[in-house]
Amino acid sequence: MNKKIISIAIDGPAGAGKSTIAKSISSKLGILYLDTGAMYRAVALKANRENIDTKNKDELSKLVKSIDIKVIYSHGEQKVYLDGEDVTAHIRTPEVSLGASNVATVPDVRIKMVELQREIASDNSVVMDGRDIGTYVLPKADVKIFLTADVKERAKRRYSEQVLKGVTNITLEAVLEDIEYRDKNDSSREFAPLSKASDAIEIDTTNMKIEEVVNTILEYVNNYV
Ligand code: C5P
Repeated sequence: MNKKIISIAIDGPAGAGKSTIAKSISSKLGILYLDTGAMYRAVALKANRENIDTKNKDELSKLVKSIDIKVIYSHGEQKVYLDGEDVTAHIRTPEVSLGASNVATVPDVRIKMVELQREIASDNSVVMDGRDIGTYVLPKADVKIFLTADVKERAKRRYSEQVLKGVTNITLEAVLEDIEYRDKNDSSREFAPLSKASDAIEIDTTNMKIEEVVNTILEYVNNYV
């Protein structure tokens, strides 16, 4: 008998805890984790490398026609390949974050990324995190979660994350500014904006520990399966 494929959609703004929580859930359930933001980041990286303004929608529509983005799993870690090159280590810079939010407003870019995301979910049980997973990418996801947190708390988390990674040329103010810019851009775009699906469970993580959020979500998943 085939095992049932399940999909868990986790959406929310930057710094709400999506990737940490999605990773933990995927490893506890032994299913794939797909960080969809990494794909938009790879598009932004390519635009930056080719000196294309990430706000130039026509140029981006052209660029995305010939782009080759692949998601590969190696030792349980997601690697993103751009035109055959592993760019996983190059997509977390502030410049790429900002660019990703810009390229993500272009419908042609989204359509291509969503195709790949749906293809992965059609063959695998997956925890997918992003902005439009529950509303657009996987509207029939088995469990939909919308994570939120106070914007200052989100900025603090991102800042600490970067400092822990050894990044020194950032300030808390700059991280807060980046998050506020992306929140606005992501929520106000016309095509598949950041929004909570009507059937998603909202969890405010401001005062919650990671473990608590993970366990809350796992309870919903266990009730479903
Ligand atoms: O999640 P992450 O911060 O890596 O995403 C980078 C950017 O990619 C976001 O600010 C957002 O604009 C875009 N994105 C999106 N839809 C997704 C995932 C990310 O628009 N499903």
